[in-house]
Amino acid sequence: MEQVTYGGLTFEPYISKNQIQARVQELGKEIMRDYAGKMPLFVCVLNGAFPFASDLFRAAENIDAEITFIRLQSYAGVKTTGAVKEVLGLREDIKGRDIIIVEDIVDTGNTIYRLIEDLKKKEPADIKVATLLFKPDALVRPVKPDYVGFNIPTKFIIGYGLDLDGLARNLNDIYILKEV
Ligand code: IMP
Ligand code: MG
Repeated sequence: MEQVTYGGLTFEPYISKNQIQARVQELGKEIMRDYAGKMPLFVCVLNGAFPFASDLFRAAENIDAEITFIRLQSYAGVKTTGAVKEVLGLREDIKGRDIIIVEDIVDTGNTIYRLIEDLKKKEPADIKVATLLFKPDALVRPVKPDYVGFNIPTKFIIGYGLDLDGLARNLNDIYILKEV
């Protein structure tokens, strides 16, 4: 893997697509164990989580499961804006359902916290969070993801769904911002 540049910034290889795929398979197995005999609803948080959700959902193929999509946004460039605005709401009735929120990354936790609070009002049976990446040192909210692909330091990363102003989501590997 080589370095890549976006918006004048240089990124170096960080997590390979093979590592990602191996970890996603493990998470899929955990979810199949935990939800045996149940029928969870995966809630994919667009846009960033769509590659992860697609892989994770199919890694859990031996259980009955549904998937739906919700769209949220909190980032501008490489900095979190703090405010989370819901862009596209949920249409399904989730009352009594077992929900698995699928996120690309939990950073400050603002997005997931806000989403959990919103979903709780709709009276699901249970809400769990699956995130490919978790920046534990950046967390400012009382949330604890249930399924974590990789814990990472508080640095900006791109690829496999994660973007810099809309670009780099289609990279198969994950890259980290190079220190200058
Ligand atoms: P939080 O609300 O601060 O936890 O941020 C969550 C959202 O910010 C994620 O769903 C991502 O879209 C975005 N985000 C956080 N960290 C990064 C990063 O390192 N690269 C790209 N997007 C990020
Ligand atoms: Mg996101």
